[in-house]
Amino acid sequence: MEKRELGKTGLQVSAVGFGASPLGHVFGDVPLSVAIAAVRKALDLGINFFDTSPYYGGTVSETVLGQCFKAIGVPRDQIIVSTKCGRYREGFDFSAERVTRSIDESLTRLGLDYVDILHCHDIEFVSLDQIVNETIPALQKIKEKGKARFIGITGLPLNIYTYVLDRVPPGSIDVILSYCHLGINDSTLVDLIPYLKSKGVGVISASPLAMGLLTDSGPPAWHPASDELKSACKLAAEHCRKKGKQITKIAMQYSLLNKDISTVLVGMNSPTQVEENVAAALELSSNGIDKDLLNELENILEPVKSQTWPSGIQQS
Ligand code: NAD
Repeated sequence: MEKRELGKTGLQVSAVGFGASPLGHVFGDVPLSVAIAAVRKALDLGINFFDTSPYYGGTVSETVLGQCFKAIGVPRDQIIVSTKCGRYREGFDFSAERVTRSIDESLTRLGLDYVDILHCHDIEFVSLDQIVNETIPALQKIKEKGKARFIGITGLPLNIYTYVLDRVPPGSIDVILSYCHLGINDSTLVDLIPYLKSKGVGVISASPLAMGLLTDSGPPAWHPASDELKSACKLAAEHCRKKGKQITKIAMQYSLLNKDISTVLVGMNSPTQVEENVAAALELSSNGIDKDLLNELENILEPVKSQTWPSGIQQS
């Protein structure tokens, strides 16, 4: 599995990263034995980056990921783990007090002494000035205590990144995690990359399958996309099926093509999904992407190109 440098962190992350939100049962139930088998398969195939959050499944994802690491007995220096703070099943709380408590709770659930990255989770739901003035300084203290090696911010609207990165001291944010903006239907993250590079932050792109839109089984009931976007993605998946191709494969490959992205975080809940997604990456390295199929899918998705959905509160 190809490794890529994550910004200036010195971390070498696998090009395919393991998104652990499905381990919180957000896309359906996952027995613990299957979760362990999926994580074991990921490690065997060279995936070293795992992402979770206390929000996923109301802490279940973190707990299950911790159980997986324990059951497998994986050496700490062979994995890169990110979790988040500020978003919980109960709601948002980015106060210094809450995030400082949060990291201790996360470390207990994960069975770890430190995480590699601690992200502020979905910051567009609160005042970004609070993130700048209160949360990031609190995370710096957590970093100084050695509980997190690096600091990140996540969220859907792309303008949150410029707002925050233009206002924090240089070097205080190491990475950003964007989602649903580097896929066949929406690749708007690409326009932000020169800016992010100028700020020296590493770029993680999540949800190459657009949180299930670009899969045969389709999105979960909670998916926030419009009916128009859901229908177009369904048509795209059907088109692939008719041609005997897998939409997940080409969707993964599309995200992986961009080498400015250090890692493509895909949510996985079975060893088979891990195998398929790693195979997609390996095939891309040896054969390149199926350009004809990509053109056909881009045509099908053209009417909904870059269509996204509202997330968070309006910032003044
Ligand atoms: P995704 O686009 O990765 O899609 C996940 C869905 O696709 C799941 O239902 C999964 O079971 C399915 N899937 C995966 N591989 C498949 C395959 N080969 N065949 C068929 N189905 C397959 O969406 P995601 O899980 O939301 O995003 C990936 C990860 O990125 C998350 O788990 C999370 O760790 C992270 N993420 C973070 C944020 C944030 O911080 N705000 C937002 C979204 C995602």
